[in-house]
Amino acid sequence: MHTRDYQALDRAHYLHPFTDFKSLGEEGSRIIERAEGVYIHDSDGNRILDGMAGLWCVNLGYGREELVAAATEQMHQLPYYNSFFKTAHPPVVRLAEQLVKLAPAHINRVFFTGSGSEANDTALRMVRRYWALKGRPDKQWVISRENAYHGSTVAGVSLGGMAPMHAQGGPLVPKIAHVRQPYWFKEGRLGEGRSQEGSPQDPDAFGRDCAAAIEAKILALGEDQVAAFIAEPVQGAGGAIIPPESYWPAVKEVLEKYEILLVVDEVICGFGRLGEWFGSVHYDLKPDLMPIAKGLSSGYLPIGGVLVGDRVAETLIEEGGEFFHGFTYSGHPVCAAVALKNLELLQSEGVVARVRDDLGPYLAGRWKALEAHPLVGEARSLGLIGALELVDPASGERFDASRGIGTLCRDLCFAGGLVMRSVGDTMIISPPLVITRDEIDELIEKARGALDDTLARLT
Ligand code: PLP
Repeated sequence: MHTRDYQALDRAHYLHPFTDFKSLGEEGSRIIERAEGVYIHDSDGNRILDGMAGLWCVNLGYGREELVAAATEQMHQLPYYNSFFKTAHPPVVRLAEQLVKLAPAHINRVFFTGSGSEANDTALRMVRRYWALKGRPDKQWVISRENAYHGSTVAGVSLGGMAPMHAQGGPLVPKIAHVRQPYWFKEGRLGEGRSQEGSPQDPDAFGRDCAAAIEAKILALGEDQVAAFIAEPVQGAGGAIIPPESYWPAVKEVLEKYEILLVVDEVICGFGRLGEWFGSVHYDLKPDLMPIAKGLSSGYLPIGGVLVGDRVAETLIEEGGEFFHGFTYSGHPVCAAVALKNLELLQSEGVVARVRDDLGPYLAGRWKALEAHPLVGEARSLGLIGALELVDPASGERFDASRGIGTLCRDLCFAGGLVMRSVGDTMIISPPLVITRDEIDELIEKARGALDDTLARLT
C-alpha cells in the first residue's frame, strides 16, 4: 500500500484523538511506519527526529529489543490474568516492588491502571474516599490549575483545566475548582504582573502570588471542604510551564496549613524527564498520591498506576473494606513485564542520572542560545523538557492567536525533519531520554531552521 491508500482508509474510517476530523479530508495524515532510537520514519521514506518522544513517553527510545523480548516471553507464559478477587501474578507484584523502591520513602503501595487518565480517576476516588473514612465527608473539593492536563476521561477532563475540553461533552464532575497556573512568561513577563514601565515581575514574587491564589481559593470554598490539590510538577501539555523556584515551597506550606492532600501527577515528569526518577524528587515534594503512566513502559504498552503514600494507603487498607474500583487491564501481565524491564534498563544504563548530570545541562545551554533568535521571547528547559515562546520580533509581544504562528512553525519543523509540538505559540520538546549530545545538536539546528523558515513566511 502507498501513502495515499493509507490516507484514504484513514480519512474514511478513523476518528483520531485531538483532531479536527474534517481537516483530515483536506490534508491527510502523516503515516508513521517504523522507528529506531530517537528517529521515526514515515511512509514516504522521511526520517524525522522525534523531539516529543511520541507523546512524552518513549523514554528509552524506539526499537529496544529487550522490551520486545520481555513482552514475547510474558505472552507465552501468561498473556492475561487479572488481579481482582485475591489473585496476582509474578510480573505485577515484582513491578509493584520495583516502583516502591524507586519512589520516595513514604510510598509503599501501588494501584495499577491502563492509562494516565484512569490513574487520575483513581486518585480522585481515593482522596474523597480517604476523607470519608476519616470522618470528614465534607472534604470533597479538589483544586487544580488552569490549563492543566490530567487526561480525557470525564474525571480527567474535569481535573484538567483546559477550557476547550470543558466546553465539550459536559457536565463535568462536581466540586473541582481551578486556580491560576505559575506561567511567568505569560503573566509576569507579558501580562498583568508587568509594571507600568514594562519591566517584568520578579519570578519568585510571581511564584508566591500563584501559591497565594491557592490559599485564597481554599478560603473561598471553605477551609474544611477541600480534599486535595492536584498538579504536575512541570505542566506539560499546558506548555511546559516550569514554575519559579519559589512556587512549590510556598504551595507545600499552604497545603500543610489546611490539611489538604497533595496529588502530584507524574504522568509526564516521572521516570527521568526532569533528571530524577520523579518530578516530586526534583522539587522535594511529599505527595500523598502520584499518578503515573507513559514513561513507566516507555510507551511500549499501555500501563499506568497510582503510587499511594502511607497516610492514604493505611487508611484505605485498615478502615476501608473493599474499594469498589478496578480495571480489566489493571496490572496486565504483559504490560507489567515490559514496564519491569523498562525500569531495569533505565537503572542499568544510568539514564536518569545522565539526564540530570549531562544531557539536561547540555540541552539547557544550547536551548537558551535560541533566545537570540528574533522570534523567541523566552527559551526555558529543565531536564529534557523545554519550551520556546514565540513573539512578534517587531514588538516583542505575542502574535494575534488567529494567525496560528505556532502551528505554522510546528508544520515547518516537521517538514524539516523534527517533531516539536505547538501549544498556541509555545513550541515544546520532550525527546527520548537516550538522546545523545550529537542528536541534541541536530535537534537544535533543526529547531533553528524551523524558526528561520517561520520568520521568512512573516516578512
Ligand atoms: N496526566 C498528564 C500530566 C498527562 O500529560 C497525560 C497525557 O498526556 C495524562 C495524565 C493522561 O494520560 P493518558 O493519555 O495515558 O490517559
